[in-house]
Amino acid sequence: MRFDHETLGQRVRFASGQARESLAAELDLLGSARAMLIAGTEERELAERVTAGLPVVVHHDEVVMHVPTDVAARAREVATEHQVDVIVSVGGGSTTGLAKAVALTSGIPIVAVPTTYAGSEATNVWGMTESAKKTTGVDDRVLPRTVIYDASLMLSLPQHLSIASGLNALAHCVDSMWAPRADPINAALAVEGIRALNLGLPAILDDPSGLDGREQALYGAYLAAVAFASAGSGLHHKICHVLGGMFDLPHAQTHAVVLPHVLAFNVPAAPEAGERIASAFGSATAVAGLAALRDRIDAPTALRDYGMPEDGIEQAARAVVEAAPKDNPTDVTVENITTLLHAAWEGAEPR
Ligand code: NAD
Repeated sequence: MRFDHETLGQRVRFASGQARESLAAELDLLGSARAMLIAGTEERELAERVTAGLPVVVHHDEVVMHVPTDVAARAREVATEHQVDVIVSVGGGSTTGLAKAVALTSGIPIVAVPTTYAGSEATNVWGMTESAKKTTGVDDRVLPRTVIYDASLMLSLPQHLSIASGLNALAHCVDSMWAPRADPINAALAVEGIRALNLGLPAILDDPSGLDGREQALYGAYLAAVAFASAGSGLHHKICHVLGGMFDLPHAQTHAVVLPHVLAFNVPAAPEAGERIASAFGSATAVAGLAALRDRIDAPTALRDYGMPEDGIEQAARAVVEAAPKDNPTDVTVENITTLLHAAWEGAEPR
C-alpha cells in the first residue's frame, strides 16, 4: 500500500436542535465580536433563530447560485465596511460558496451552518461564475474553520430537494473511489458515507418530521465531502460541471440523475471499488444497490426534465472527454460518453 493523503483541519460540532448553542460556543472560542451573517432570504427565519442574541453586526442576504463575481464583490465590500471578524453562513452550497468568496480575498474565518447535504462546508474548493463561465479553485483560506451541524435545520428542506441533495452527497462518495487522488482513507470515508446515506435518505421520506434519517444523511454528507475534498473530481463531477455550466442545470438534481450512469460505466473496470460500494449498500452489486435506493426514494431520472436540450448532447460529450481525468477506470471516448449522456438525458436504464 502506498499513498499520499492530506487531512484538512476543521472542527465539527454535531448536535441536533443545538445550532445556536454550538455557534455561541464557537464564536466565544474564536473570540469573535463582529460576525457577518450570510443567509439568503429563504433561510432568513432559520438564520435568525440560529444567531439570536449573538454578535451579528450585519446580515447579508444576496445569495445567488454559483456565486456570480459581482455578487461576491458586493459581499466583500460589506465585510470590509463592517470590519467583521468572522463570517457565519447559514444555508446550502450557494450560501457557503458566497462565504468562501469573501474568505478567499480577506482570510476572515468562516463558521458554516449547512442546511443541505451539498457538503461545501467540508472542502477547500471555491467556485465563482462570470459571463456564464464557472471557475473553481482550491485554497485553504476558504475551508470553514468550524462546521455546525444541526439536523433540525433540515426539516424545512422540501422532500424532493432532500433527495436530490442527498444523492449529490452520495455522488461525492462514489466518485471518490476513482477520482485522481483516490486513496484508502478516502475510500474508507466514502464507504461509511454511502452506508449512512443509504440508511438516512429513505428514513427522511418515511418520517417527514423525524431527525434520525436527517442525522444519518448529514453525517454521511460530511464524510462524503471530506472524501471528495481529498480525492478530487472524478468523471462524475467533471460531467456534472460541464452540464451545469453549459445548460444552467440545477446542481443537486444533475448529480442525482447522472450518478447511476457513471457508476454503471466505471464499475466493470473498477471491480474492487464496485465490491466496496456494493458492501456499503448491503447489496449484491454496486449498480443494484444504487438502483434499489433510487427506487425507494423516487430519485430524479432524466436531464430533459431540468431543461437540457437533446441537441446539446454531442457538444457536452466533447467537453466531457476534454475534461475527464486521464486515469478514469473506463476509457472515455466521444462515442461512449454520448451514449451515457443520452441515457441520462432521456432517463433510460444505466448501462
Ligand atoms: P443551494 O444552496 O442553491 O440551495 C438550493 C435551494 O434550497 C435554495 O432555494 C435554498 O434556498 C433552499 N434551501 C436550502 N436549505 C434549506 C432548508 N433547510 N429549508 C428550506 N429550503 C432550503 O443548493 P445546494 O445544492 O446546497 O448547493 C449548490 C451549490 O453549491 C452549487 O453552486 C455547487 O457548485 C456548490 N457546491 C460546492 C462545493 C464545494 O466543495 N465548493 C460542494 C458542493 C456544492
